[in-house]
Amino acid sequence: MSHLMNNYGRLPISFDHGQGVWLWDKEGNKYLDALAGIAVNSVGHAHPRLVRAISDQAAKLIHCSNYFNIDLQEQVAEKLVEHSGLDAVFFCNSGLEANECAIKIARKFGHLKGIDVPHIIVMKHAFHGRSIATLSATGNPSVKADFSPYTEGFIPVEEGNLEEVEKIVKEDKNVVAILFEPILGEGGVIPLELSYMRGLRELCDQNDILMMCDEIQSGVGRSGKWFAHQWAEVKPDVMTLAKGLAGGVPVGAVVVSEKANILKPGNHGSTFGGNPLAMRAALETLSIIEEEKLVDNAFEVGKKLKKALSKSLNGFSGVLEIRGKGLMLGIVLDRDAHDILEPALKAGLTFSVTAGNVIRLVPPLILTEAEADEIVKRITPVIRAFLALPKI
Ligand SMILES: *Cc1c(COP(=O)(O)O)cnc(C)c1O
Repeated sequence: MSHLMNNYGRLPISFDHGQGVWLWDKEGNKYLDALAGIAVNSVGHAHPRLVRAISDQAAKLIHCSNYFNIDLQEQVAEKLVEHSGLDAVFFCNSGLEANECAIKIARKFGHLKGIDVPHIIVMKHAFHGRSIATLSATGNPSVKADFSPYTEGFIPVEEGNLEEVEKIVKEDKNVVAILFEPILGEGGVIPLELSYMRGLRELCDQNDILMMCDEIQSGVGRSGKWFAHQWAEVKPDVMTLAKGLAGGVPVGAVVVSEKANILKPGNHGSTFGGNPLAMRAALETLSIIEEEKLVDNAFEVGKKLKKALSKSLNGFSGVLEIRGKGLMLGIVLDRDAHDILEPALKAGLTFSVTAGNVIRLVPPLILTEAEADEIVKRITPVIRAFLALPKI
């Protein structure tokens, strides 16, 4: 009898250890990990450099509090600023915390302009987290059910429809920010049109509104650029990060432009946020991504993986679309796909299913071409067998 709360539908497997893109369960079965702890283990499992950095830091100083200067925060911030072209960083411990901070920045930005009830435009299929405010900013009704009342101030729009956003901005002078994922993750791996993102940027410029990108899943190299908004050659005012940022150690970050760098002492904080252990892990992860050229690798191997999947799944009538960028790919089926997870595990492959019918592949960024081919080799018969079952 488990003493854990029953809030996860767990698969009947326990992992014991990992190496690179591979995982082993307690029985010694080996799996190719195309989930990477939900886009978290960006440099793979047990990367020797990350292991060494974490052990070294643990022996030196794990935590000390933000009452003091933390050099490692400066170093990680410098890298994030360098790769994003933005100006300043706040560190926290998770994705939702980063988005909470972004929401606070947007609200304060509004208050500084004399707007007492600031509104934030969000996407209908967005996922921004499970705290009350981020849940309120999230579209998916199934994660929201039973948790009302929600936080006010979010206006959902249909992703891709620029006219709708223009109309709202024109009519509602309380809009202070537009928050979106450049590639919707939990919503079903949906890349936003680049022209749409450019249109949003223009709209934000014209109306003095903050463009806020939730890059918690799509950021840090996953899409084949450092950050997925860079595909549209635009720069947000606020960007949130977490998942892949520290290779598996919990870290969240908010990166802002000069314009959005408005928090003052006392406005916001976090006890654990940016502690030396987490920062050392983030610094080493970012260094590995730079030195092993993993952003380019995600682009190249991702492109080949997508192509190989298209070829291998060609003619499967139940496969509607293969979409995504870099190593953030979705295989869209014509039916709910949750029951494919167990047969996939039996075939030695981990991935997840989002939005009901989308198989999500977010393997470590170190994935090689040979390993990508192995994903295709393992997933194809699993999908074929699954689609041959009577459609429920
Ligand atoms: C995972 C995710 C979050 C929430 O992150 P947590 O660390 O689970 O709080 C928010 N936004 C996006 C886009 C995510 O993928």
